[in-house]
Amino acid sequence: MLTVYNSRTRKKEVFKPRKGKRVQMFVCGITPYNSAHIGNLKTYLNYDVIARYLRLRRYTVFYLQNVTDIDDKIVNAARAADVVWSEIPARYFSEFQAVCEKLHVIGISKYAYATDFIPEIIAQVKRLIDKGYAYEKNGSVYFEVKKFKDYGKLSGQNLAKLHKSVRLEKDENKKHPYDFVLWKAREGTNEKYEPAWDSPWGKGRPGWHIEDTAISEKFFGPQYDLHGGAGELKFPHHEAEIAQQESASGKKPFVKYWVHTGVLTLGKTKMSKSLGNVISGKEMVETHDPDAFRFLVTSTQYRSPLPYSEKLFTQAASNLEKIRDFTRRLKAIKQKSGKAFAVAPYEKKFFAAMDDDFNTPSGLAAIFTLIRAANPLIERKTLSAKSAKAMISFIKDVERVIGVPLINTLSTQIPQGITALAKERDLLRKQGKWAEADAVRARILEQGYTLKDTKEGFEIIPAGK
Ligand SMILES: [Zn+2]
Repeated sequence: MLTVYNSRTRKKEVFKPRKGKRVQMFVCGITPYNSAHIGNLKTYLNYDVIARYLRLRRYTVFYLQNVTDIDDKIVNAARAADVVWSEIPARYFSEFQAVCEKLHVIGISKYAYATDFIPEIIAQVKRLIDKGYAYEKNGSVYFEVKKFKDYGKLSGQNLAKLHKSVRLEKDENKKHPYDFVLWKAREGTNEKYEPAWDSPWGKGRPGWHIEDTAISEKFFGPQYDLHGGAGELKFPHHEAEIAQQESASGKKPFVKYWVHTGVLTLGKTKMSKSLGNVISGKEMVETHDPDAFRFLVTSTQYRSPLPYSEKLFTQAASNLEKIRDFTRRLKAIKQKSGKAFAVAPYEKKFFAAMDDDFNTPSGLAAIFTLIRAANPLIERKTLSAKSAKAMISFIKDVERVIGVPLINTLSTQIPQGITALAKERDLLRKQGKWAEADAVRARILEQGYTLKDTKEGFEIIPAGK
């Protein structure tokens, strides 16, 4: 039974989508005004694993992600670079997609660009005004927070006590500082940097929060199953979404399961532009093995913080290599005889861990336990090919979920010449002719193979693995 931690109720709940096996899932997408950093990527890798697991569990998942392709940050970036505003999201979103591709992020069913949904946004703002939840002032429209009594419930904020340090947009038009903008009147006159759309309130553009609910309502209706995002988006962004959609439709709850991810830090410090310690996703995949980065992220439970360091990266890379080394050895097993090995208990452990709020580290632990149990049998050559095959089929399931290639795809066929050389070297070693043995080893290495000495003799390994 799959359980999910729901931020709305603050407890783990049995996962029961509203429409049986069909899951409607929305995750806050990026604002492509600069390069996405590895903290952003952690979030998208986490939801990619969740979507992959739900699909493995035979749910049909529609995974929707918005792209905030118009925003103050985009207008500012366009002005700074002196380019047409739309060039900014075009440039950084394609960079983001290229990085995601290297990281095997494949789960998203639809990317919805905010600017493609202006009519839906305007219609939702209009409904909020008509129902008395929003007001217009000088061409801008605001949501009146005091009209929605549940505001602050998700993040556990009490508006009366809310600390003044919370950053709020300064705006003379607002009745109350907590009110937030739904439609923003055009400020400048330069359409190159700041686009504007016609609306019943004059020319302007959407606020940040409203695009999510206009888009999710268009695809899913006023209520749906799962909404994800980084934990830091709970307030004010997700509170605003709840206020908008529940006020517009009168239906509660807007979202059944709110799922939030833990933050990626650099050691103990938060990654931030002002601290100058940001690692972009592009930089990461260009300088590090993308598979190892993904493996590192999946080695942590999605809700936990991830204190990134080079040391943790190296550890993850080496753990990943252990699994790949194991599958390579499994694939080489040909003997029909041997001990029967029950893989089922390890599979069970993996699925139980994933069913427990997508606990990937505990799921991966099942593989490492399997490796420890099976390795001695491989060394003694007492593992049958049938058992090896069962193990590979289990690891294939894990691979589908965590999204990191684990099965060594290199051919395990070792050329006869190499095997002959290896046998020759083995003989030389047994005769104590170390220098000659080393010379043969060097010849093997030149042809792209390394030798690993085992208790029973040797093993030939294609280089690079
Ligand atoms: Zn959002």
